[in-house]
Amino acid sequence: MSYSVLSTDKVSTQGLAPLIEDDRFEVASVDDSASAEFGTVLATADALIVRSATKVGRELLARAPNLRVIGRAGVGIDNIDLMAATEAGVAVFNAPDGNTIAAAEMTVALMLTLTRHVAAADRSMRDGRWDRADFKGIELRGKMLGLIGAGRIGGEVAKRCRAFEMDVIVFDPYLDPDRAKELGLQLVDLETVIADSDVISCHVPLNDETRGLIDAAVMGRMKSHVRLINASRGGVINEADLAEALTDGTIAGAALDVYESEPLDVSSPLRTAPNLVMTPHLGASTVEAQVGVAVAVAKRVIEVLADGELSAAVNANELL
Ligand code: NAD
Repeated sequence: MSYSVLSTDKVSTQGLAPLIEDDRFEVASVDDSASAEFGTVLATADALIVRSATKVGRELLARAPNLRVIGRAGVGIDNIDLMAATEAGVAVFNAPDGNTIAAAEMTVALMLTLTRHVAAADRSMRDGRWDRADFKGIELRGKMLGLIGAGRIGGEVAKRCRAFEMDVIVFDPYLDPDRAKELGLQLVDLETVIADSDVISCHVPLNDETRGLIDAAVMGRMKSHVRLINASRGGVINEADLAEALTDGTIAGAALDVYESEPLDVSSPLRTAPNLVMTPHLGASTVEAQVGVAVAVAKRVIEVLADGELSAAVNANELL
């Protein structure tokens, strides 16, 4: 008996090795989910592996009657209709750990790019200039880093920033105090992070509590020299308010990897806002992370199809 696995969205082939090298599985990689070939393989697939591009909703599930498991090679499962998958009896897995380091390193990259004007200085060099006076930066040493959310990624950011001799405070009402202690994190309330930090970095999921958490009023209570970073999920910071706060100097700078709507609209006010560094959702885009998340979901697919092991599924409680 061999199981059919359909992989799409350019999931790392290297990472799918546990499935490809196992005779019990036949793996087809079809990156265009709108193609006829995708539909043909989907019609008999036992497992589907996606990144974030393919939208897995009722319509797609109806075309996959044999499907038992969906693996999301990454963290967020926003592109998967969890309720529809559960109703269809399909287990959904993500790979929450695979890109932690990639996202943490991206956050530090954004922080340094922002505080040392790396991107703006590069642009000016390419314009033929030599503008040394315009790009005086600040050092991270001795500055207060305020983290909003300190789970997997926030915790790794804290470790790295302490190596820069920053002081770290954290607002995370759901963080286990023992874990905070283990990581050496000082837990404070949100207002303290807002008022006392020189750099603020968000590492929360997007939900009703965090959507619009940082708006004009909150930015107005930050230090005017604060640098604000978001490599978590778009929508945590109100983008229109941020563009305004940067333009009128309410805050000194910001760096974003994620946006309310992606790809970012060409007419977004962020495109012309000053002192803003932007990257197109690159947090998880490292060779290592892409292999890591693919290996993790490949192993889950084997567990489900070969061993019937569902307990780690995102929808395990509803399925079991
Ligand atoms: P995690 O679940 O390990 O950590 C999230 C933390 O946020 C938890 O400790 C939780 O207690 C805390 N939290 C939840 N609600 C909160 C609230 N209202 N206020 C303060 N803290 C709150 O998640 P993670 O793996 O660290 O990921 C963090 C974020 O980064 C997620 O949104 C994830 O989707 C995103 N992410 C982005 C990229 C990228 O490419 N830029 C890559 C990976 C993950």
